[in-house]
Amino acid sequence: MRVPRSIDSICAAAGSDMPSATRPLTAPIYQNSVFEIESLEQVDDIYEGRQDGFIYSRDANPNVSILERVVADLEDTDDAVAFSSGMGAVGVTLLALVESGDTVLAADALYGGTNLLLRQHLTRLGVNVEFVDACNLHAVERSLRSRPKAMLIESITNPLLSLPDIRAISDMAHRSGTLLVVDNTLATPILLKPMELGADVVIHSATKSLGGHSDVTGGAATARSDIAMQIRQSNSVWGNTPDPFATWLIARGIRTLPLRVERACRNAMRVAALLSDHPKVRAVHYPGLPGHPQHELARATMPGGFGGMVSYDLYGGGAAASKFVRTLDMIKFAPSLGEARTTISHPAKTSHHSLSEDERAQSGISDGLIRMSCGLESAEDIIADLEQALEYV
Ligand SMILES: *Cc1c(COP(=O)(O)O)cnc(C)c1O
Repeated sequence: MRVPRSIDSICAAAGSDMPSATRPLTAPIYQNSVFEIESLEQVDDIYEGRQDGFIYSRDANPNVSILERVVADLEDTDDAVAFSSGMGAVGVTLLALVESGDTVLAADALYGGTNLLLRQHLTRLGVNVEFVDACNLHAVERSLRSRPKAMLIESITNPLLSLPDIRAISDMAHRSGTLLVVDNTLATPILLKPMELGADVVIHSATKSLGGHSDVTGGAATARSDIAMQIRQSNSVWGNTPDPFATWLIARGIRTLPLRVERACRNAMRVAALLSDHPKVRAVHYPGLPGHPQHELARATMPGGFGGMVSYDLYGGGAAASKFVRTLDMIKFAPSLGEARTTISHPAKTSHHSLSEDERAQSGISDGLIRMSCGLESAEDIIADLEQALEYV
């Protein structure tokens, strides 16, 4: 029954949805925290899964669900959970899977934030954290003897771009009853699908290549339904759900992901080839180069390309790196990756700043090390900028 409304009531309802017979081709932004429910019976139907529907955006929202569906499909698995950041994905996933007294086995080369989370925060909650060189299968096998609850690795490590053998590690982990969690941010599902190699959970920082335009922060974890449900419930109470607009931007970025990854790989290969015999460059790290320690593994598991990241060590250390950064023109110093433009980062001063000088030296992160994320520009322009800057170092 329709009742007359005062101006106060008209104001209060401003911005309500416009009914329409046609649906938008791309999803609008459902920038709302709560949904209108028709009846008490419908609440039960939605909560118990008899009817699709949304109630409260911390639990589920159309834009968030749209992103989750596409990321699950990209990784060829049942389900995905979206987060407000990549660190949200790593943190909430681990909080969902482990409890006090459990052990997490982690690769010793991990994203800086992940490293900090494991060393300082999970340990504070009574989780035992052990580290291992994930590229050394004998060491991994030895560490798995303690039957850790979960093992966390990155499919391509940052900044030295080494590749652990995910198939071999997942076989060993499953024999120990250990869940294998793989951060696939640098590889992207276009190049590598850890699920096909036996991973149980695959994590992304959507801030990087999935979003792809440096205009949004987000994350995702994909897994088969029972594990995803555990992570989803954990996310709802820890409150790391992303904003609808953020997930809308990430889904928009994903539409061009294959094209962007293809171009970035091609540009990275050109850069790696140029730098591998450049007199100012001590070493180049790129899985596409025959001299890379896991080149054969990369060829077998990433037939579509070797990624858009190239790292290189300049002769002349920190002073050379400093001159190089200042002299580059088109290429920007911006410590992130996977964006439309070519960017560089200086791991010793940014992502690995919290390590001691000794720890950095042990991890092979020198003051002359530059990590480059190749973008979508023409290879000729990237190479011209690199060549002019290298002349000055
Ligand atoms: C950036 C990054 C993260 C963290 O993601 P945020 O979106 O910055 O929270 C985690 N893992 C890897 C490999 C990353 O590159």
